Amino acid sequence: MIAVHPFSATASTNQAHLRIMETTDLHVHVFPYDYYGDRAVDTVGLARTASIIGDIRAEATNSMLIDNGDFLQGNPMGDYIAYERGMKEGDMHPIIQAMNAVGFDASTLGNHEFNYGLDFLMKSLAGADFPVVSANVVKEMGSDPTKDVTLVKPYVIQERTVTDGAGASHAIKVGLIGFVPPQIMNWDRRHLEGNVQTRDIVAAAKAYVPQMKEEGADIIVALCHSGIGSADHEEGMENAAVPLAMVEGIDAILTGHSHLVFPGPRYDDFAGVDSAAGTIHGKPAAMGGFWGSHLGVIDLMLERDGNAWKIVSHSSEARPISKRNEDRSITALVESDEAVLASVQTAHDETLAYVRRAVGKTDAALHSYFALVADDPSVQIVSQAQVWYIDQMLKGTEHEGLPILSAAAPFKAGGRGGPEYFTDVPVGDVAIKNVSDLYLYPNTVRAVRVTGAQVKDWLERSAGMFNQVTPGEVDQVLLNPEFPSYNFDVIDGVQYEIDLSQPSKFGPKGEDLNPTADRIVNLTYNGAPVDPDQEFIIATNNYRASGGGSFPGAKGDTIVFEGPDTNRDVIVRYIVEKGTISPKADFNWTFKPLAGTTVLFDTGPKAVDYLDSVKTLDIEPAGEGPDGFTRFKIAL
Ligand code: MN
Ligand code: MG
Repeated sequence: MIAVHPFSATASTNQAHLRIMETTDLHVHVFPYDYYGDRAVDTVGLARTASIIGDIRAEATNSMLIDNGDFLQGNPMGDYIAYERGMKEGDMHPIIQAMNAVGFDASTLGNHEFNYGLDFLMKSLAGADFPVVSANVVKEMGSDPTKDVTLVKPYVIQERTVTDGAGASHAIKVGLIGFVPPQIMNWDRRHLEGNVQTRDIVAAAKAYVPQMKEEGADIIVALCHSGIGSADHEEGMENAAVPLAMVEGIDAILTGHSHLVFPGPRYDDFAGVDSAAGTIHGKPAAMGGFWGSHLGVIDLMLERDGNAWKIVSHSSEARPISKRNEDRSITALVESDEAVLASVQTAHDETLAYVRRAVGKTDAALHSYFALVADDPSVQIVSQAQVWYIDQMLKGTEHEGLPILSAAAPFKAGGRGGPEYFTDVPVGDVAIKNVSDLYLYPNTVRAVRVTGAQVKDWLERSAGMFNQVTPGEVDQVLLNPEFPSYNFDVIDGVQYEIDLSQPSKFGPKGEDLNPTADRIVNLTYNGAPVDPDQEFIIATNNYRASGGGSFPGAKGDTIVFEGPDTNRDVIVRYIVEKGTISPKADFNWTFKPLAGTTVLFDTGPKAVDYLDSVKTLDIEPAGEGPDGFTRFKIAL
């Protein structure tokens, strides 16, 4: 049953309902498939979004479909095309193929369009049946933005025919202008430096919008691949949708980049934003989630005003393709569109083969059976990739040259996940799908700048993983079962011991518990004690850096780099670039020796195969633990 939208139902003579539909941040998701997990999922995929587009289009007399950028990169299909198949002149990129099949009116460039370089991008765009606009990526700077030579068209003015409430056809000119975060110059410096430059989003809009008006645009829609952030305009700001909405002449704003949903409660407290009505400074706006999860919808009631059109009423919403039930299960709200699936079936099959095939080799087994009691290769590989990446990203910044440490935690380390819930990638080939085993969450990379004192307290917080032990006593239970392993950050790049005879300095929520306690002892950097005032960079993820787990030095105010890349993508790039990886643990942390003291540690049964990987420990099997776990005894 299609319920016609009130604007279409009530439009009178010389009034027309125009619906603008938005996908954003598709990131190459066409099939409803998680290639890392190698399993079907109901939460993603343009093939699913395409199915709701049909009904949503049918609710409105007139409609346009626009994509808001970040389509070319972000899942293994994107990596497969870029790293394996390549883009020769005349090749079709599968996401473009799928977008052609769906039928878009236009798209814009997101920051991730630049991840594989300009040549790859332009060859991909060549196959698009729709224009791709971006006003602030510039090949040659002019005296003002309108004199720039831009990489792609800054805007288009599309002539459309709309049907009014009386069934009469009228011409309308719809202006579409695109924007990307200027930060692409930092994020993809190696591809962009010397080739393009960027301008401030608002500055570009202020220059081009009057020109679009002069050229006859009746309404102007901003394709803003930028999020909803501060209301105060700052030159070069990344998330500029709110000040952009202040620009006179812009009528509606499609947002994205943040992978969130608008209208929606996430934006309740944002100045200038009405999160329920779906407006920014009174103008209709939408953000359609990510990976095809939602369709952003803006409805405009237009009225003839002499020879032009004005907007007399508007509304906006975001429609999902699936719903999350109270028991956290997911229900699909729609089936995939078969034609869209068929358009990329070959690339899908090739991507499946790609994720299952070796892309690199590992000299060491990547397992987490002992990740909570010794330095561990499954955590080490994450830290190596993070340091490799952050070192590149901080080049040329004021932070270049500071020591780069890396914080990483074992995500899969038994516990409530059970005795099979461990990372376990054997020596030899590493496939892309293994990377999700190494890095469970779709976090993005961050760097924080902290002091030596904060490094120590960060580790004190991690060390809450362990129960306090009494020196000289035997068979004490080591792990605090209430402490999640994802909060057991190992910091690579410094050396330290954990003194289990001391109480934890911090409580389970990061609160001060024993402020004078020192579990972290003999903390050194390059062989010398860490000076509390010495400064360090720590590579970590968005969860931790913005306060997740409430770690000292990681409350959001120490962030110096916000990466657009997921930690998983960074690990894939690292493995692809290195070919062979050797993520051997460097045993940079150990327990402080305590004479005559033993502890009991439960882990997965397969751990017995890897006993010689923990050469720093005096460890022996100690029978069965509860619930299928295997018990070990460690002499401190
Ligand atoms: Mn994105
Ligand atoms: Mg290490």
